[in-house]
Amino acid sequence: MGELDAFWMPFTAGRQFRARPRMLTGAKDMHYVTDDGREVLDGTAGLWCTNLGHGREEITRAVADQMAQMDYAPSYQMGHPLAFELAERLVELAPAPFKHVFFTNSGSESVDTALKIALAYQNLRGKGERLRIIGRHKGYHGTGFGGMAVGGMGNNRQRFGPGLPVDHLSHTLLPDNAFSRGLPANGAAMADELLDIIGLHGADTIAAVIIEPISGSAGIIVPPTGYLERIRGICTDHDIVLIFDEVITAFGRLGAAFAAEEFGVVPDIMTTAKGLTNGTIPMGAVLTTSAIHEVFMHAPPEDIEFFHGYTYSGHPVACRAALASLDLYARDEVFTHARKVRQVFEDCAHELATSRANVTDVRNYGLMAGIEIAPRDGPSRTYEIFEKCFFEEDLMIRFTGNVLAISPPLIISEAQIRDLFDKVGRTIDRVN
Ligand code: PLP
Repeated sequence: MGELDAFWMPFTAGRQFRARPRMLTGAKDMHYVTDDGREVLDGTAGLWCTNLGHGREEITRAVADQMAQMDYAPSYQMGHPLAFELAERLVELAPAPFKHVFFTNSGSESVDTALKIALAYQNLRGKGERLRIIGRHKGYHGTGFGGMAVGGMGNNRQRFGPGLPVDHLSHTLLPDNAFSRGLPANGAAMADELLDIIGLHGADTIAAVIIEPISGSAGIIVPPTGYLERIRGICTDHDIVLIFDEVITAFGRLGAAFAAEEFGVVPDIMTTAKGLTNGTIPMGAVLTTSAIHEVFMHAPPEDIEFFHGYTYSGHPVACRAALASLDLYARDEVFTHARKVRQVFEDCAHELATSRANVTDVRNYGLMAGIEIAPRDGPSRTYEIFEKCFFEEDLMIRFTGNVLAISPPLIISEAQIRDLFDKVGRTIDRVN
């Protein structure tokens, strides 16, 4: 291979990567294969997306068959049955109020689509001055201009201008909640900050609130008990659309199909992607309630109800990949398995902290865990742990700032969970 500098890598220190490349060339079940022939345990489900593990033959076959039968069909002014079938399957899987699905190609597009639905919904109801979107500090909603503006991770917003009119709730990472197992006890009242923001700008300027039920990319921030319920209540009281960004929490990560189901809190719009096709083919889906959708249906029937779409919305090959993935989730009872092993996962994550000086917090829910590591001067400790895990322990994890993020495929066995956390623990011990 050449100098490796033509590919401008996303969210990667490219020069650091090129100094010691980490190359993946194969994948099966719980493992990647590297260019030097090592089997590496996948501790991150790729990028939170291969919930069923890798190389699932049923998906491969479905995709190959579809490519042969009909490689592409437009969804503008034309239809094909698979997109309608997939939309119905998602409606069946989702909490009751969700009845309509708009297809995208990624989490970022799902977020931008959701924001546009919320803005157009307000506009169609004669509330066109409701233009502001409220996000949360440390929130991640992808990299489109809408998702970026409303996201709350500093580096992602720094050099790209102001974007949409937004404001941000505080994140709920409280020192009192360190080492909480599952939902932390303290902080539900922080949801009332939304009342302050409403007081500041006026409810009649706010279209929507968007939050990840559990923040993933900023380091696994689990909502305090009662927090999401309070946000829901305030949004309802002030006629504000509530969007749950479920790009990583949907499709079983928490042990249920959606975080909305797991937490019993129903938003008005949900964004998904990633696990929808098990990461095999790019696809996202935005689910809305009938109450939202109905507002778009008052114009004459020959009018386009929502001026929005992508060339690949409802791509037939992606639809087949998604249908095969949904079949496997159901047939293998994958969400039930995640529920079954999540206690072992939690125990292993928290045992890791015992008598380890540099572990300053452990946070978890379902099959996601964040292990916060004390920062140090000079090169990042978490990067070193990540690199050593890969080269010395044959384990792929992620790091974001000072947090190690663990989110394996949901098919992981209890023995593999123990092995995964043993590897992480040993590596933390080797990095001073
Ligand atoms: N929203 C959330 C909550 C995410 O975690 C991500 C990606 O990690 C996105 C949106 C963006 O998804 P994509 O990278 O597919 O655009």
